[in-house]
Amino acid sequence: MAETYDLVVIGGGIHGVGVAQAAAARGLSVMVLEQTAIAGGTSSRSSKLIHGGLRYLESGQFSLVRECLYERTLLLKIAPQLVELKPFYVPLYSSTTRRPWLLCAGLSLYSLLGGLDPATHFRHVPRNQWKNLDGLDTAGLEAVFQYNDAQTNDAALTRAVMRSAQQMGAQLKVPATFTRAFLGKQYNTIEYCHNGKIETCAAAVLVNAAGPWVQQVLSRITPTPSQLKIELVQGTHIVVPGMLTQGIYYVEAKDKRLVFVMPWQGNILVGTTESIYRGDPADVRPLPHEIAYLIETLAHYFPGYRSGRPILEATAGLRVLPSDGCGAEGGAPSVHTRSRETVLHLDRRDCPRLLTIYGGKLTTYRLTAERVMARLADALPTSVPVANTRHLKLT
Ligand SMILES: Cc1cc2nc3c(=O)[nH]c(=O)nc-3n(C[C@H](O)[C@H](O)[C@H](O)COP(=O)(O)OP(=O)(O)OC[C@H]3O[C@@H](n4cnc5c(N)ncnc54)[C@H](O)[C@@H]3O)c2cc1C
Repeated sequence: MAETYDLVVIGGGIHGVGVAQAAAARGLSVMVLEQTAIAGGTSSRSSKLIHGGLRYLESGQFSLVRECLYERTLLLKIAPQLVELKPFYVPLYSSTTRRPWLLCAGLSLYSLLGGLDPATHFRHVPRNQWKNLDGLDTAGLEAVFQYNDAQTNDAALTRAVMRSAQQMGAQLKVPATFTRAFLGKQYNTIEYCHNGKIETCAAAVLVNAAGPWVQQVLSRITPTPSQLKIELVQGTHIVVPGMLTQGIYYVEAKDKRLVFVMPWQGNILVGTTESIYRGDPADVRPLPHEIAYLIETLAHYFPGYRSGRPILEATAGLRVLPSDGCGAEGGAPSVHTRSRETVLHLDRRDCPRLLTIYGGKLTTYRLTAERVMARLADALPTSVPVANTRHLKLT
């Protein structure tokens, strides 16, 4: 007889493992199917920040920023080896669109949304300290603000959450590719390919946490579930040799978008770009014009890099964004103000058999997972919780 679980989760990215951890903490049986490796998708190609998202204030996403800052505080406590508070510097030049008063207002609001916690305090960096800022160009520099946000190793965080789930009994099959499912009256039948063999299991609820593959997974389910319209937005990062000693820089690129320049494993990580992607998520690659844009932005602010440096690594990840139907090829202006809220979609309101996660952030994975469990409560058996994800240490 096929093995039976309370939940089967498709996808071993941060959302899939987060759901597995939340389910296992509730005392439920859960299995994760991952086709390549834990964090093999977007969850190893992010900007690696556990942050409130200062730029989301510009599009009025205040509740998202508040939630992110709350989760940041929590992750700093439960994962101190994986999530580290870092100084962020925002230089403002005579040519920068964002004016000092606007940034000051934004940072005050950021601090307010973060409950005025000391970690949300910010300051104006005095002119006599600008020379310490890792070779930042001071020509035309009018002001520098410093605030705090956190950096992580996204893939390591994802693996740590999976380990935490496994310690509470969650199962993991990897590499295991979900091939199809039949939604039944009491149980769903799920088929997947593991070690070249088709295997079957049953689950009360199926959770689609396939990230950019979300629609591909839905197309393999019978009866065909409804799908939300989405767009995939590609974001590229590059790693160049170099050293930043002070922290992370948040600079305005020539198209007015904000780009991070940060220390990363003894080198410098620069990102990101935003362009609409159409194609198989497995084929996403950094594009030459994205790499050129990131190099140009780095060199513009850090003259020491104008002579050119080799690129050690370039990676591209895909965001899932709800579509507003106006995206054009390379349509960055329409995507960077779009909502970054996570959408949870059920196949039916009462007793759902399938829940699909669209979009989301690394920072809020735990909250998203708790919300998934709350939405599925009446479809799952009563169980005795063994832990609370708020207190589970991640190492
Ligand atoms: C460029 C970029 C920068 C970002 N920066 C940040 C940041 O700094 N901070 C932040 O909070 N958020 C950030 N985000 C958002 C965050 O990274 C993502 O929301 C998050 O990683 C998505 O995780 P996921 O689990 O939904 O998807 P993924 O990590 O893509 O996981 C989906 C998994 O499903 C698996 N899968 C797919 N199909 C199947 C199948 N048929 N069978 C089995 N497995 C399957 C895939 O192999 C993959 O591992 C960024 C996103 C991007 C694109």
